[in-house]
Amino acid sequence: MSFKTTCPYCGVGCGIEISRSGSNLKLTGDKASPVNQGMLCIKGQTLLETVGTDEDRLLSPSIGSWDETIHTIRDHFLTTPKHEIALYLSGQMLMEDLYVAKKFADSFGIKNIESNSRLCMYSTVEANKRAYGADIVPVSYDDIYLAETIFIIGSNTADCHPIVFNHVRKSKAFVVCVDVYETTTAKQADLFIQVEPGRDMALIDDLVNQPWFKDKKTLSIYSQGLTQSTDATDKVNALINAHIYTGNINKPGCGVLSLTGQCNAMGGREIGVRTGDLTATEFFSTDQIKVLWVMATNPAHSMINYRKIDTLIVSDFTKTLTTQDADIVLPACSWSEKTGHQKNSERRYLEQNAFLPPAGESRPDWEIICLVAKSLGLKGFDYQSAAEIWYEMDIDDHWAPQIKVDEIPVVIKPTDRTYGQSVNNGRLLAQWHSMSRTQKSKTLNKLTKQHPDSVSIHHVTNTELFKNKTVELDKYSKQPCFKG
Ligand code: SF4
Repeated sequence: MSFKTTCPYCGVGCGIEISRSGSNLKLTGDKASPVNQGMLCIKGQTLLETVGTDEDRLLSPSIGSWDETIHTIRDHFLTTPKHEIALYLSGQMLMEDLYVAKKFADSFGIKNIESNSRLCMYSTVEANKRAYGADIVPVSYDDIYLAETIFIIGSNTADCHPIVFNHVRKSKAFVVCVDVYETTTAKQADLFIQVEPGRDMALIDDLVNQPWFKDKKTLSIYSQGLTQSTDATDKVNALINAHIYTGNINKPGCGVLSLTGQCNAMGGREIGVRTGDLTATEFFSTDQIKVLWVMATNPAHSMINYRKIDTLIVSDFTKTLTTQDADIVLPACSWSEKTGHQKNSERRYLEQNAFLPPAGESRPDWEIICLVAKSLGLKGFDYQSAAEIWYEMDIDDHWAPQIKVDEIPVVIKPTDRTYGQSVNNGRLLAQWHSMSRTQKSKTLNKLTKQHPDSVSIHHVTNTELFKNKTVELDKYSKQPCFKG
């Protein structure tokens, strides 16, 4: 017996086939998937090492039975002013989970609903709106094979989105890579242009003069290296401008492809998960928030003040740094136990299908939200299955490889940029986010040859930091590091 599902890690959206013989499970890449055609990176290949239960798996609510726990959460929600309550969601949640979370927030009157995708994607959302009139990704992986030049900037695609990079390598395109480090991607490019951190805008502005860009059918691929910086929206618009000025848009093999970090980061964008009251900076500073419900993310790494919050509720499938600090921990289903949809970087809706029963008393995120909503007396949360939610969402899941967009060049105001110390955090091929799932895999841990006590900091722009330090090359990334 075999059936299909989708990898839960990155936004590439690789199809997976699970076959069962007795109690044995076998995982392979889905050869029929138009996304990966059977290919899987090492994280996808080792997913079965991360399923089931281990000592960190959350199997029951932390403060009592489900009934008692939901009752306690209800009391917190009823006794706290609504502007002091917030939901913090994740691009790991499925379309159905995010839809129900947004419906719950709207029904109860919570305006502070945000997603961890805000940290990486919203500069692209704003740039798309300015350039195309709407948040549209006009291209797809098909364009990789139609392009003559592939321009990769701010993305170590080979390590972070390996199957997209496999497509790039299989294509006949001339590959140009721009990065601050000579990454795995840079090493395999036809042309590597190394820039100092923060100095990529001048290079983007000059693209219109480069023959390999202006005279060819060019597809640009970017990721967080471009979108996580103080002037990220302008950088994305400058890149789109270069495509507009050279006619490299609205044609096969031409355009701009943003690679999303998480499996359903695109879904959160579509559903409109975004604070309606606080600005993003205010949300992440958490000063106003007294009750925070975190789902499927580990903001110990990104929301540094979260320990100040009066009541921290966390839904997750496994123990994390954040669950350690939580007042209430809710056991959520893991990837292998969940059914629903995710939307990948090229806008395809893909199915996740459960192939194991929920571990212990864990429940899907949508079901946990419905329990809280119903305890608060809200109507419209009586779903029996994810399929019922998908039906209500009424999404047109027709897919087209290219979408025509408006071409509105955006005027980028020059800014007086000063460059101090820069932090460029990369991602490792064999680990994912805060390692809450990947660290369960022995194979992935063996492949991660990281110095736990070292930090890689760009040595050209941070000469002060490197003074009097013993600098060595990190074994894995080959970047200069110092200890301590
Ligand atoms: S490329 Fe991304 S979606 Fe594909 S197998 Fe690897 S982690 Fe999963």
